[in-house]
Amino acid sequence: MSHQISLALGISEDDLLNCMQCGFCLSVCPTYKIIPKETATPRGRIALMKAVQDGGLVTKDITESLDLCLGCRACEVACPSGVQYGTMLEHAKEVITEQTNFSAPVKAVRWLFLKQLLPYPKRMKWIRGGIRIYQKSGLQKIARKSGILKTLPWHMGAFEAVLPEVAPFRAKLPKRVEPNAKTNKPTVAFFSGCIQDTVFHETNVSTMKLLEAAGFPIVTPEDQTCCGAVHAHAGEVDLAKDLAKKNIEMLERSGASYLVNNQGGCGAMLKEYDKLLADDPVWAERAKAFVKKVKDINEILAEIDELPKLYPMNVRVTYQDSCHLTNVQKVTLQPRKLIQSIPGIEYVEMVGAGTCCGSAGTYNIVHYDESMQILDAKMINVINTQAEIVVVANPGCQMQMRMGVQRAGLEGKVRVMHIADLLAEAARLK
Ligand code: SF4
Ligand code: SF4
Repeated sequence: MSHQISLALGISEDDLLNCMQCGFCLSVCPTYKIIPKETATPRGRIALMKAVQDGGLVTKDITESLDLCLGCRACEVACPSGVQYGTMLEHAKEVITEQTNFSAPVKAVRWLFLKQLLPYPKRMKWIRGGIRIYQKSGLQKIARKSGILKTLPWHMGAFEAVLPEVAPFRAKLPKRVEPNAKTNKPTVAFFSGCIQDTVFHETNVSTMKLLEAAGFPIVTPEDQTCCGAVHAHAGEVDLAKDLAKKNIEMLERSGASYLVNNQGGCGAMLKEYDKLLADDPVWAERAKAFVKKVKDINEILAEIDELPKLYPMNVRVTYQDSCHLTNVQKVTLQPRKLIQSIPGIEYVEMVGAGTCCGSAGTYNIVHYDESMQILDAKMINVINTQAEIVVVANPGCQMQMRMGVQRAGLEGKVRVMHIADLLAEAARLK
């Protein structure tokens, strides 16, 4: 088979031609549910990419259509033809980003977040410190009372309202943890994530405590960096590759047998470093070896079958799948098994648990209105479960579901918890 690469979008001809236009993917696409147009479907988006590939112009309609895609990759799972939608979207975004002349404010925000903040864990810690001062000094109360938050761009006021109390600047994860009892478990390296450790540091603490209680020696390498998912989704694929190489070197240096993370989105990116670096003669093999070592916390805990003692929690619980944990990492049974291993829990499966909640990286910031439509529809399914806890496995979902709970008027009635926090609470580790 030919493997001709388009000069226009850089997508493999084979991948584009794989789509038979059968439409099986339509029913799972969240954007098609809220925008009933062909250009909001996976099939439509592939047809647009093909049109550009064949020499068509990249019009505003095409960039908007691709931009409105959540990148949830539910279409990949539904596709009988094995279409590599995620890879195609990434290529298209890379080429379109290269040719887009962003406005000055957008350029500045992209430069700040993608190049100056996310790749530097220490700088992200300064952000956490700043948020902490804002929350604890009384500034937050003043800002909320004054109504100034409503004037912030990109609906930042809505996100501020559901931001959890962050950890202090000085809070840090232990560099090395040795389990109390002798163990034959392999050493694992912990991947803390940039947003996760900034906003949900406590979830990282819970995760490490669970691993420790399960008998794993743990290291937290200081030379780890952002996984690069936000960069790849924003079309900055070269930056994503640089970050991937740093993380590969980090794991090699650590000598650990596994790299464990608790973020569905970041974990999926880490597990696709082999695809990202497939054409790189120096890094392709190292990336393959790296990918084999990446594990989500749900996977590693479900595999060992030796959880610490879990005490009863008499509560009704449902689970919201992370798209990338489900559609890319194919981890769906493990979290359900772990939740149901807590005595006393009444587990209720939510209708459409695997449908994207609308968070999708920066989607809920950039496409706030569409994201909230998707979220509000999800909340109807949450309400129907009558659950008191919604369990999540990714920081983006955690923020989005917190927002959903607030929008549905369920604050104080429904808690949103990361699975590591739920298990750590049941094991009385926190
Ligand atoms: S992406 Fe797959 S499911 Fe969707 S139309 Fe193409 S072949 Fe069919
Ligand atoms: S990635 Fe998700 S939102 Fe985008 S086309 Fe596929 S199913 Fe639709």
